[in-house]
Amino acid sequence: MGSIIDGKAISTALYEEMRQEVEQFDKQYGRRPGLTVIIVGEDPASQVYVRNKEINARKVGLVSEVIRMPEETTQDELLEVIARLNADTAVDGILVQLPVPRHIDKDTVIAAVAPDKDVDGFFGMKSGFTMKQGYVAPCTPRACIHLIKTTGEAIEGKHALVVGRGELVGKPVATLLLNENATVTIAHSRTRNLGEIARTADIIIAAVGRPNIITGDMVKPGAILIDVGINRGVDGKLCGDIDFASAAEKAGWITPVPGGVGPMTIAMLIRNTLDCYLGHVS
Ligand code: NAP
Repeated sequence: MGSIIDGKAISTALYEEMRQEVEQFDKQYGRRPGLTVIIVGEDPASQVYVRNKEINARKVGLVSEVIRMPEETTQDELLEVIARLNADTAVDGILVQLPVPRHIDKDTVIAAVAPDKDVDGFFGMKSGFTMKQGYVAPCTPRACIHLIKTTGEAIEGKHALVVGRGELVGKPVATLLLNENATVTIAHSRTRNLGEIARTADIIIAAVGRPNIITGDMVKPGAILIDVGINRGVDGKLCGDIDFASAAEKAGWITPVPGGVGPMTIAMLIRNTLDCYLGHVS
């Protein structure tokens, strides 16, 4: 049975570390890092995500603001708010909660955020399979790398399989693994013989959004398994993309769902805000 990578405990420790860092920053630079989240409309899931971000930002002592805009907000009105925040020296990170209402063009809005305040990490990843120097990485991919590193195993030289080539997780996490000098394979819906490929992987990151994409018979003994997927199983319970019971038998390390990548994602948003702040004060 592999060891569980406990994302909840790891993120709790990280929040405490960051809280102490923020106190130190305040003494050293005379102000705390500022994070502003903009939410347009009433999407219930987005409201929950934004509330969690705000709670955790406050917990570490950030100057946290949420700007709530009505569903009928025009794109120009939203761009005006972003422009004001771009110019505000007390704001280090700006996050526009997605999805935005259909009459607003998501890409235009994302592109309007100043690259040095882009805590979602979209700008850093723009140039394909490279990460722009000096910009932060997207939160969920960064969370995956952080979780792998907590095992103490080296990433360099390992065969890492990323299942899923989505823009938010699969592609950026493959880029980060390449930067860590892993040998990376990316699988997707047209991949043949996923099992055969998976059995040669030292690290598997599953980011598909379907239960049981990876099962125990596809796992190399001792592999590190990071499960990004969030699904509802037939029993109605939350589950990931990896069949936890069978895969944990073979794995060296495995993240649970819930309690793995999920809690780490917001912790990485706060980390990204601190990193943007350091870019501003230094
Ligand atoms: P996405 O953009 O829809 O990407 C899904 C990918 O899975 C696609 O590249 C698709 O391949 C691939 N795929 C579909 N069926 C497959 C199969 N049978 N075998 C191999 N690959 C297959 O999704 P996403 O936004 O990356 O999200 C993926 C999952 O992560 C979702 O469950 C989402 O809820 C979860 N997520 C979790 C967090 C977190 O904080 N824990 C954050 C973000 C997302 P094609 O490209 O060929 O269609």
